[in-house]
Amino acid sequence: AAKAEGRGTARPFAPAMDAALAERRQLEIDLRRAIAQDELVLHYQPQVRSACGRLVGFEALVRWRHPVRGLVPPGAFIPLAEETGLVVPLGEWVLRAACREAAGWACRLKVAVNLSPRQFQQADLPERVLAILTETGLSPDRLEIEVTETVIINDMARALTVLRRLKGFGIRIAMDDFGTGYSSLATLQAFPFDKIKIDRSFVSQLAERPSAAVIVRAVLGLGRSLRIGVVAEGVETDEQMRFLVEEGCEEVQGYLIGKPQPIERLAGALERDLTWLGEVGASSRAAS
Ligand code: C2E
Ligand code: MG
Ligand code: MG
Ligand code: MG
Repeated sequence: AAKAEGRGTARPFAPAMDAALAERRQLEIDLRRAIAQDELVLHYQPQVRSACGRLVGFEALVRWRHPVRGLVPPGAFIPLAEETGLVVPLGEWVLRAACREAAGWACRLKVAVNLSPRQFQQADLPERVLAILTETGLSPDRLEIEVTETVIINDMARALTVLRRLKGFGIRIAMDDFGTGYSSLATLQAFPFDKIKIDRSFVSQLAERPSAAVIVRAVLGLGRSLRIGVVAEGVETDEQMRFLVEEGCEEVQGYLIGKPQPIERLAGALERDLTWLGEVGASSRAAS
């Protein structure tokens, strides 16, 4: 309708809207090409046991190596990919690449992959995931799938069926960004989660907001009662780390331990970081 009226009529916002729309269309075209032509890359962020610093696995996080814009973070294209449905082929690219790369590592560390709500709308998602495991040769127990509360809330019955099937293959399931959505305690109990990831927003506010500490403690208690492992996301400071160790949070992930990076660059950096992290963990244990 806006098009028919033409530009330059008394509609001050129309040109801006056209520009935004054109940019979106271009982004969509570019993204389609990116998936087809392997412009996507995976960076990996380490996850470690907080008490001893032992590495348990990596979360695979997608980046777009754009020919003009450079390395684009997922926040700049995942939402559009989700809206347009492109997140389905994109997510499959990520899963295949993560499984292939992890299958080639010399260790048996886990790889965690984020799955989007759209991917969960595919009736044959479990079969697709299984096919990728078979194709890449990755053992199912080395794959962890991260889902957000949105996935669960959209269609509880379907999500439960799909997650149970994935779990039946031996894949591990993590609830991502916990505390930011609307899932209830009942949901947590009914679903086959192996892990709860406390959202970064709570960890980052530990020092400033007493309520953040209350929430983190509550989630840790919940994990203990339901026998679900808890990981804290976005750990950036020694102080946060100390709090989490003292409160019995088993696993941590964050810039303090390591930023998401190409796997080959992490290999060297990790050794240093982990030795030092082991000391932080040890002194916290001695103090408590
Ligand atoms: P997420 O799954 O919750 O991933 C954690 C995000 O927090 C990552 O951002 C990571 O770089 C960032 N992060 C980790 N530790 C710290 C820290 O100590 N401080 C701060 N400030 N940030 C930290 P990233 O890589 O930009 O990814 C953002 C989101 O994009 C992810 O959140 C996930 O929801 C989505 N995403 C990334 N890759 C994929 C993918 O392959 N598929 C789908 N569907 N979503 C993806
Ligand atoms: Mg995640
Ligand atoms: Mg998260
Ligand atoms: Mg997040």
